[in-house]
Amino acid sequence: MSGQTGSIVQRSLDALMKDESFLRDLQDEARQKAFTSLVAILSTPNHVHKSFLRIPLEDGKVVRIPSYRVQHNNALGPYKGGIRFHESVNEDEVINLATLMTLKNALHDVPFGGGKGGVVINPRTFSVKELHQICKKYVQYFSDVLGPDKDIPAPDVGSGEREMDWMMAEYKSIRPGEPYRGSFTGKSVINGGSLGRRESTGKGVYFSLRYMLHDFIKNQSTLLNNTNNAFAKTALSYADRPLTLAVQGFGNVGSVAALEAYHCTLLQNKVVAVSDRNVTLFKSSGLDIPALIKFTSENNGDLPTTEEQLTEAGVSAEIRDREDVLYLDVDVMILAALEDQIHKDNMEKVKARLIVEGANAPVTSEADEYLSDNGVIIIPDILANAGGVIVSYFEWLQGRETQFYSEEEVFKLLVDKMKSTMDTILPQFFGDPFPLRQNCYIHSVVKLSTILYRQGKLY
Ligand code: NAD
Repeated sequence: MSGQTGSIVQRSLDALMKDESFLRDLQDEARQKAFTSLVAILSTPNHVHKSFLRIPLEDGKVVRIPSYRVQHNNALGPYKGGIRFHESVNEDEVINLATLMTLKNALHDVPFGGGKGGVVINPRTFSVKELHQICKKYVQYFSDVLGPDKDIPAPDVGSGEREMDWMMAEYKSIRPGEPYRGSFTGKSVINGGSLGRRESTGKGVYFSLRYMLHDFIKNQSTLLNNTNNAFAKTALSYADRPLTLAVQGFGNVGSVAALEAYHCTLLQNKVVAVSDRNVTLFKSSGLDIPALIKFTSENNGDLPTTEEQLTEAGVSAEIRDREDVLYLDVDVMILAALEDQIHKDNMEKVKARLIVEGANAPVTSEADEYLSDNGVIIIPDILANAGGVIVSYFEWLQGRETQFYSEEEVFKLLVDKMKSTMDTILPQFFGDPFPLRQNCYIHSVVKLSTILYRQGKLY
């Protein structure tokens, strides 16, 4: 297996091999064979589709753009996962992200499998007309493998509502008369999207933190005091005191998570730093997050980078280097930009003792192991950032029923689902020596393995 996801799946299977209650019908040689089959199935995607989209540019040239759709596993339902528009997209990355989607959906009991897409472009360098062509071509090239009951894409880095609207419209033209509303999620509300979808990942990210700190740690102090677990000690050090937060990435996920923290009355939070691809902004008494969101919405998504822009935003803050956000002396750090942000070369400089992964895989395997060995709690991507796929599922359901939920209903359903996952995982986490990520993976792998076994796929 390759990549961080693969190595944790392998470790989870190794742990489960020793657990006699897991697949208890299987003994000795039959058990060994089932485990070998599981490694083979979970470590490889069912399909890797690759195309070179032919795109005529506005200057008259034609370019070929490498594009992917990876379908990892559909034992739990149709493949589901975003389409990333970024110049660093590559096959291994898309496979890794598709695998993570299979595990994420299994963890949260969302009836989808795992998929992911990628288009190797920097979307900022294409005109709107060219991006429209790219979206239409993506659907044309992959239309045979997509569909509401086959594989349902959503936005990811570099894509959003506009792209999903274009893609659904193209799917509808290619397949006249067939159901199309559930073919893509993350659409605009007027076009069949769900209220609350845009905010869902950031809200879920913050909810995972709030639930751990407020509902769990505060209410479970007896359990936490009675265990030797290093994570329990870290957790107790966070109980019932003011907290400082830093947020890396101020896009869809980071800005919403920061706003949730800013408005949260249950925790005594202060968002002292936010950052984006250009800059870190710092203020020890807490930043004005609503004013920063207003500024980014009027400035192509970017935070202020000069004193003049800060004045224009009506915000007072220190302007620091982009990387500074990672090394601040804060209690909590929310990572909501890209993968591989904390790695072996910078992990020793990280001071936060609680990290929340809003982005996918922002902490590498080496850094994860190092921080976990030092008692740092990492609320992993698979748990923290599932709000998007959970509300995508509600969008897909609403599209099928042609009945739409209010925003309040959507957020209640989202919170109920995340709460249910956290209630299953957290007591286990604080009771044993595995990091939270490993606990989540074990839960997902148990679910997938049991289903694959019952479906007769392991022999
Ligand atoms: P986005 O494009 O809206 O925002 C990304 C933010 O990161 C921007 O503020 C950008 O300036 C900043 N950034 C880029 N490079 C940076 C760098 N080197 N250092 C610091 N900041 C940097 O993307 P998003 O939708 O918010 O997604 C962020 C992450 O969350 C991605 O890893 C994505 O896969 C993951 N995620 C997103 C969703 C979703 O629903 N949007 C769901 C699950 C996971």
